[in-house]
Amino acid sequence: MIEKRDFYIGGRWVAPRQGADYHVIDPSTEEPCAVISLGGQADTDAAVAAAKEAGRMWAETDPNDRLAAVERLLAIYKARSEEMAQAISLEMGAPIDFARKEQAPCGDYHIEVFIEAFRRMELIRPLGDGTPGAMIALEPIGVVGLITPWNWPMNQVALKVPAALLAGCTMVLKPSEEAPLSSLLFAQMVHDAGVPPGVFNLVNGDGAGVGTQLSRHPDVQMISFTGSTRAGREISRNAAETLKRVTLELGGKGANLIFADADDRAVKRGVRHMFENTGQSCNAPSRMLVERSVYDRAVEVAREVAEATRVGPASEPGRHLGPVVNRRQWEQIQRYIETGIAEGARLVAGGPGRPEHLNRGFFVKPTVFADVKPGMTIEREEIFGPVLSMIPFDTEDEALAIANDTPYGLTNYVQTADPARRNRLARRLRSGMVEMNGQSRGRGAPFGGVGLSGRAREGGHWGIEEFMEVKSISGWAMAEAAE
Ligand code: NAD
Repeated sequence: MIEKRDFYIGGRWVAPRQGADYHVIDPSTEEPCAVISLGGQADTDAAVAAAKEAGRMWAETDPNDRLAAVERLLAIYKARSEEMAQAISLEMGAPIDFARKEQAPCGDYHIEVFIEAFRRMELIRPLGDGTPGAMIALEPIGVVGLITPWNWPMNQVALKVPAALLAGCTMVLKPSEEAPLSSLLFAQMVHDAGVPPGVFNLVNGDGAGVGTQLSRHPDVQMISFTGSTRAGREISRNAAETLKRVTLELGGKGANLIFADADDRAVKRGVRHMFENTGQSCNAPSRMLVERSVYDRAVEVAREVAEATRVGPASEPGRHLGPVVNRRQWEQIQRYIETGIAEGARLVAGGPGRPEHLNRGFFVKPTVFADVKPGMTIEREEIFGPVLSMIPFDTEDEALAIANDTPYGLTNYVQTADPARRNRLARRLRSGMVEMNGQSRGRGAPFGGVGLSGRAREGGHWGIEEFMEVKSISGWAMAEAAE
């Protein structure tokens, strides 16, 4: 069994001051695969103190030197990509080929995009014409706490750490206790990239412990969080006393609006997208809204796709779905499937229990419900498993109303050949992101939502600016005068 009890504080791996052992469970086997420590207040305090001490030095480091450190991190990350894929696959159950092709590469993608964005950013610039001596400066916010989930473990870490490093912040990362192995490897990469001691620190822990301690800490200026809406609320409450900035990237209940004139592959693509990562994505298109004239055919295609979707252990190569992350999530998904049946949705594929050929591991049957009515539990709540809800509609306005009738607002999807309708819906859908006709977000686009999906904007220059304060300066001496 892997033993990784130490934390990374002040540029060194150190034994926990108050650690309690925690077993990381391999979701394919339900067996422990690693032991880590959950830290306590003394560990949190030590990490925050190290970050605070390094704060001024890092903020005043030449931005080109910060850039160079992140460029070295990128090179190391790429060189150790296979190890990263193995760690992610083991800790959260992503099938190894999916971990190699999707999960691990998210890391270098985001680092690269941040590097490109930072090269173009002006950290100090004139306010505008006609305001001589007035300058706008972007400055690091200070010590930041980064709290990440298990579903796309490196995606989330790579959306936060490199952005904070470039911004000039120092930080404490608390990865998910369910999936800490990838972050422990990442911490070693940051070390090997020569990031100075104290700039980056990692403490493992749970939400009630290190997560809460960071949220309340008077020496932490900001929490950047990705995870559940429940935890987002608790963090906001805990951060209120110190009035720290809180950025939240939370759950979703995305609608995928499929019109009769959509391309032939739209339904298949939508079902596969829903099942990707075993349904454990905040931007999953979990509600498929289909125009009534093509609805029956769409339900049939969805059934075929679900029945053709294989499920199996994470270590097996191939394009199957792995297990969900843990027993709690598995049981919750089972409850949702039972509730869908009890509330009268039509079960078209999948259903409760494990797939027949698997008697161990947190495996879920790829499940499709048709005739889901707006307001049913499975239409309202984020399931976070491979469960699709299909809903027919008659008019564009009706589809829009159903799509927008959710407290969430992360990503919505539109499939139609009608360009005017596409652009109309892109503006009227209430969400941080709209993706149409299978085209995913452009390079450098911000990721984030509205409403209960939180209000973070991660990635590209928006993601770096999240970690910065805007300073307004007047009376700035012109270059000649200052020499
Ligand atoms: P969670 O929000 O409890 O955990 C995510 C991270 O937050 C972990 O690092 C955890 O230790 C930490 N955390 C938990 N409570 C905290 C608190 N009070 N203060 C500070 N940190 C805290 O998520 P979960 O319980 O693992 O998953 C539950 C549900 O959350 C899922 O079913 C899904 O709906 C949602 N979720 C969403 C995302 C996303 O990407 N938006 C990711 C994971 C889970």
